[in-house]
Amino acid sequence: MKTDARRRLPSVDAVVRAAGDVGAQRDRFVRAVREVLAEARTSGAALDEASAATVARARLATRDRRSLRRVINATGVVLQTNLGRAPLAPAAIDAIADATGAVSVEYDLDAGRRGERHGHAARLLAELSGAEDGVVANNNAAAVLLALSAIASRREVIVARGELVEIGGGFRIPDVLRRSGAKLVEVGTTNRTYVRDYAAAITERTGAILRVHASNFKVSGFVASPEDRSLGALARERGVAFIHDLGSGTFIDTSRYGLAREETVREAVAAGADVVTFSGDKLLGGPQAGLAVGRASAIAALRAHPLMRAVRPDKITLAALVATLELYRDGRAESDIPVWRMIAATQSTLTKRARALAAALARQGAEAEVIETESTIGGGSLPEETQPSRAVALGARHGHANELAARLRATTPPVIARVIEDRVALDLRSVQAEDDELLARTVTAALAEGE
Ligand SMILES: *Cc1c(COP(=O)(O)O)cnc(C)c1O
Repeated sequence: MKTDARRRLPSVDAVVRAAGDVGAQRDRFVRAVREVLAEARTSGAALDEASAATVARARLATRDRRSLRRVINATGVVLQTNLGRAPLAPAAIDAIADATGAVSVEYDLDAGRRGERHGHAARLLAELSGAEDGVVANNNAAAVLLALSAIASRREVIVARGELVEIGGGFRIPDVLRRSGAKLVEVGTTNRTYVRDYAAAITERTGAILRVHASNFKVSGFVASPEDRSLGALARERGVAFIHDLGSGTFIDTSRYGLAREETVREAVAAGADVVTFSGDKLLGGPQAGLAVGRASAIAALRAHPLMRAVRPDKITLAALVATLELYRDGRAESDIPVWRMIAATQSTLTKRARALAAALARQGAEAEVIETESTIGGGSLPEETQPSRAVALGARHGHANELAARLRATTPPVIARVIEDRVALDLRSVQAEDDELLARTVTAALAEGE
């Protein structure tokens, strides 16, 4: 009976007394106790002082647990957007630590006066891409918006119908174009567009030709689209700008790792684009950022645009980005940048690591088997391209796969796995090798807890 239960409930004071020392959290603890008692009153549940205190404490602990936490990415997706895309290189992490205090972000150390925020990365970006200049925004979506706003606002922008894409997270090229104040002019068809389609659409109102990388899908079969070089030549001949949103953007030839060949940033620049935009945290392997490189006059227009102030990167991002770009300059990208180390990992290395993990788990009594998997790049890069990888599949006796996957997400650090044929699979390509031991310990503990 409800009335009995209510009679059995302790007072808030009694629960707080029973809880003993709650430290600096007293007010919040009292509120939690009130909530717990109110709920018990409604549900008719019986609670004594001690258990009400325990429930209130647990509730506060859950509430206070951070939702933004370090995790182990065992999904086999190297650039998992939901897991923060590119893990940073040690040099970038050190640079971040260095930049947390006072830094010369807008200070010219030679002249001893105000300096340029954009100068730090510009020289490196130009050097690496072969462009005249570069500028950094806080992500590529912002870089595209900025480029369109600065170069083609109130003018027409010509885009192939097959490139009017949605990248994800609501980033749709037609919408971004509209937001920038430009007017969209569609040319060609979904599958085939020719240079003559662009040429026929150019008028005195045209501000730019925009080319967008189809980052997350593939059209095959009866398809045609012009070479960058032809578009660049057309744009120059007719006096309009050529903006190329490369999406991922890479400085390294992806075909060296058995993947499809991606046009590099340098090639896109050489093909005659006025502005090439790409992400900092996709194949570049750096922090979230949007990079725009190209002709000096075009980049100067971006830098001078009022939107620049709203989309500029912070000192932490700049520090990590510059450190990452330096690794490319010094020829250490493939050895030092986690994304490239993951992509470059050979099957024999992955097998060795998977065997070691399986053996460590087996020593603790777990059923673990090395299986062959296909890992992907993800992050809107190289759609449908896979690399052969290795995973450790956990035995069925550990419970239903989804339950086990949930248990792994509840560990510290949470382990994010995928389910393959009703088994939880820990794919090692997306795990940094330095984390293998931590992964073994964490999974062992999670399995033991479930016994
Ligand atoms: C990923 C992507 C974007 C958005 O880049 P963010 O850095 O995530 O903002 C824009 N355009 C293309 C073609 C992309 O692939």
